[in-house]
Amino acid sequence: MSSIRDYINNKYSIYDAYQLSLGAPAPLGKCFCPFHDNTHSPAAKVYQYGLRCFGECNRVYTSYDFLKKFRPDIIEQESKVILSPEQPKQRQKLNRLVLTPDDRKSNSKVIQLIAEYYGIVDF
Ligand SMILES: [Zn+2]
Repeated sequence: MSSIRDYINNKYSIYDAYQLSLGAPAPLGKCFCPFHDNTHSPAAKVYQYGLRCFGECNRVYTSYDFLKKFRPDIIEQESKVILSPEQPKQRQKLNRLVLTPDDRKSNSKVIQLIAEYYGIVDF
């Protein structure tokens, strides 16, 4: 099962996460790293895959890392959405799927069922 980390990283681009976290658009050039005390010379840069800190962090931060640190409310809200089995729309889909004895032998139907349950449409 995909983790909340994967889910958040897929749903929020680094640009969205940066804006939501710091209240300003991600700078195009070098910027200050929001994950360590960095106010004199910019030590980080935002790439499509995340923010890379070339300073003391020396690592890449993804959308999940941003929201986890600066917007835990969003992480909590999203966790409820993906972990809740009580969503009526998903339940309807689940009820329509019937497993035949052949399906039980192969995993594909079960995987499809899980994909539909979690709303992964282009599975
Ligand atoms: Zn840093």
